[in-house]
Amino acid sequence: MTERSFSEVLDDVERNYWEITENIARAAEKSGRKYEDILFLAATKTVEPKVINHAVSLGLKYIGENKVQELLSKYEEYDLKNCDLQFIGHLQTNKVRQIIDKVSMIQSVDSVKLANEISKQSVKNSLVSNILIEVNIGREENKSGVLAEELEELLGRVSEMPNIKVRGLMTVPPICEKKTDVCKFFDKMQQLFIDISAKKMDNICMDYLSMGMSDDYEEAVLSGANMVRIGSRLFGRRIYR
Ligand SMILES: *Cc1c(COP(=O)(O)O)cnc(C)c1O
Repeated sequence: MTERSFSEVLDDVERNYWEITENIARAAEKSGRKYEDILFLAATKTVEPKVINHAVSLGLKYIGENKVQELLSKYEEYDLKNCDLQFIGHLQTNKVRQIIDKVSMIQSVDSVKLANEISKQSVKNSLVSNILIEVNIGREENKSGVLAEELEELLGRVSEMPNIKVRGLMTVPPICEKKTDVCKFFDKMQQLFIDISAKKMDNICMDYLSMGMSDDYEEAVLSGANMVRIGSRLFGRRIYR
């Protein structure tokens, strides 16, 4: 196996970055929007801060980690003057206080219990936390996210909590072999997003629909996503240790 040198890795990231931004721009235009309307968030798990910061130097504005421990260990090295750090993974209630003052949004809230803890820690830290509600749109067992029919009740409960603000919805759809299958899940999410927006619930904003990853971000944008979360397509395939 050949190791790529660090500068080759950076070159790859650079090439990938421009390719992805072009693809996002094209999908945005096809769906009647502009590149600037779609937030490109890089999923940075297992990626060294130096490599992440190279992408930031190219113009990347949003990064997302999915493990608390990893986020904390990399925290001092992120270029947070030039990008915005979010949390996108499953979050245990007892770890909320470790990241509450470090992230601009928690994308993966799927229970009253977790929302309550975020609210409590936000009050303690005198800040307002932005969150997305994660929806288990494929109704998969053992997967994070609320079921579609539980969404409104959860939104109602969260809307009454202090110092926490719902800004939209997020999903990780089931792995599908065919693009047309994953599109069905994206379309369901778009419909939910539109339905909830139309209800104009107190304290609930539907600013962001976060869906689409390396293999399907263009389809997600065509189905109304305005935030995509891309890891391997940008940084190369992950080597899990
Ligand atoms: C890793 C990750 C992504 C990106 O996945 P890729 O397939 O590498 O693009 C998106 N969302 C979440 C929550 C992730 O953990």
